[in-house]
Amino acid sequence: MVSFINAKNPIRTLIVTGQNNHNWPVSSVALQQTFENSTLFKVDMAISPEKGSDMSGFVPDFASYDLVVLDYNGDMWSEETKANFVKYVKNGGGVVVYHAANNSFPDWQEYNEICALGGWEGRNEKSGPYAYWMGGKLQKDNSAGIGGSHGEQHVYVLCSRKPDHPITHGLPNYWMHIHDELYDRMRGPANIKDVLFTAFSDESTGGSGREEPLIFTVEYGKGRIFHTMLGHAGESLKDR
Ligand code: ZN
Repeated sequence: MVSFINAKNPIRTLIVTGQNNHNWPVSSVALQQTFENSTLFKVDMAISPEKGSDMSGFVPDFASYDLVVLDYNGDMWSEETKANFVKYVKNGGGVVVYHAANNSFPDWQEYNEICALGGWEGRNEKSGPYAYWMGGKLQKDNSAGIGGSHGEQHVYVLCSRKPDHPITHGLPNYWMHIHDELYDRMRGPANIKDVLFTAFSDESTGGSGREEPLIFTVEYGKGRIFHTMLGHAGESLKDR
């Protein structure tokens, strides 16, 4: 039974961070503030050891939370932490996959199924098909090639593909997104449940020439997974 959510009964949220090729101390705090400003969420941080450190003590208590927000792209978790996370998601846990979190763990199958699409870190046709939007539905393309790229950062239009979905309900069907990366050529198991927003990746800005699924939900166990590729945070344009 879903309990009523209010400031006295907030959504217990854990932001997982601590390693990223992005400026995670900025992005994780921005995420925390965004969640908490709504008064609907109570947010804790699980900050990993620094890259290259012993990860065996990094064992977040996922099961104590309603929502896990992934702002992590770094060293592999311990087998215990991996198993705990998969169990949490399969049992119906909430997950937000945020931007470069989908770069993580190219060889961890369950993680890639939880993200549905990922990029970089050696991903290629072995990772799964490309996925793009055409003709009013998601298309898949098994051709060989890299997984994950983006053109130059720019403002772009996001287009709602499921305006009646509870997540998109009340949002505009189109909006101009601020200066950001537009991830393209992502690939993976592509077990996308509902494509919520797409954007056109224009070849004139170094893009794929395809309408890319940028915000979607994922089909995985009983998990409630929301994946957004938006939200680049960093000082270097070389950041992903
Ligand atoms: Zn980025």
